[in-house]
Amino acid sequence: MAKRLLILGSTGSIGAQALDIVSRSEELEVVGLSAERSWETLVEQARAHGVSRIALVEVGAAARAAEAWVDGEVLSGADGLVQLVVDSGADLVLNALVGSAGLGPTVSALGEGIDLALANKESLVVGGELVTALAEATGARLIPVDSEHSALHQLIAGEEAGGGIGVARVGTVERLVLTASGGPFRGRSREELREVTPEQALAHPTWNMGGKITIDSATLMNKGLELIEAHHLFGFPYERVDVVVHPQSIVHGLVVLCDGATLAHMGYPDMRVPIAYALHYPERVELPVPALDLAELGSLTFERVDEEAFSCLALARAAASAGGTAPCILNAANEVAVHAFLAGRLPFLGIAAVIDETLEQLGSSPVHSFDSLYEADREARHVAEDAVLAHA
Ligand code: NAD
Ligand code: MG
Repeated sequence: MAKRLLILGSTGSIGAQALDIVSRSEELEVVGLSAERSWETLVEQARAHGVSRIALVEVGAAARAAEAWVDGEVLSGADGLVQLVVDSGADLVLNALVGSAGLGPTVSALGEGIDLALANKESLVVGGELVTALAEATGARLIPVDSEHSALHQLIAGEEAGGGIGVARVGTVERLVLTASGGPFRGRSREELREVTPEQALAHPTWNMGGKITIDSATLMNKGLELIEAHHLFGFPYERVDVVVHPQSIVHGLVVLCDGATLAHMGYPDMRVPIAYALHYPERVELPVPALDLAELGSLTFERVDEEAFSCLALARAAASAGGTAPCILNAANEVAVHAFLAGRLPFLGIAAVIDETLEQLGSSPVHSFDSLYEADREARHVAEDAVLAHA
């Protein structure tokens, strides 16, 4: 029987590639799709994949979709998105939303005991222990889509036959290594980053992705978020997760074992590989991706992160070790700052400055419930908006 799949954020970069994977397989059946506002694309996708329920978060867009598409049901607003998840009868939810808006649907899916393929790293950064505890309580599986974490998942699974996510014995695997491309500004000094434009920041050298994560890759905040993501997914303490810059994006992750061996996961940078792994897990399927030709590549290079020029990684480490609401505040301030940078309201170096000031002002509080996280997210956005004005 086909696996019933619900795709949240199907009009985005990850979402569209997931639909490409679906159309290559008899084993996946799409039962629902969602987007924020691009209703025409969403309706087109629903028609192409025989889907009868969709959700649009923007109410006006939902109304237009409902007028144009009479063959199915259109849910509307943030509540509609939750309803789409809860009533889906899905075996697997792919969360490919961007930002902390992904937390609600992550909680809904895991709360229903539905396995979750997680591209939306922000919901794990923000929700942390509460999200992994929820998955444990309901028995839902969390399968990473992020390429580095997919690589680590595969490497750890090989080491821990029969084990799953979150149960890796820290004993055998001593360290996890996340690779970072370094983004378009690798090698530049802080001074040289002062004048860079959104257009330059959006020109990623190895990956073609949505706007927000592309800016996160240019500031290296993406690696900071991924550090927190890895900590929660694999239950590893922060001091055992390293980051190394690898401009070719061929090695996606490494695990350092207790006997001096290090295992690497390699392949050309193509998100369809980790997406297909997550959607078909625990099976593997064929993909039209060329086999790696190392002789053709000739060399792979590695270097340390310049944390002086790219201070977002250090900010993420600091928020991670502070714990509590700090990672939530870090993430919210980053979303506000990236948005302002893309709109031309904040210089590139202002992104780190806004995050730093927001964290400084709000500190960290203990997290008791998801509501305290939603509240911290809201408050951090207000503080960050004021900081943007101060740095414009
Ligand atoms: P994107 O901007 O291309 O797409 C985002 C999707 O979410 C769209 O369908 C959009 O309609 C929807 N959306 C946006 N805001 C929303 C909101 N407030 N409420 C509900 N829906 C909303 O983003 P993307 O690049 O596909 O990234 C999605 C997630 O995957 C992010 O968390 C990103 O960090 C992660 N990720 C992406 C890549 C990549 O290659 N694109 C790689 C690794 C991880
Ligand atoms: Mg990644």
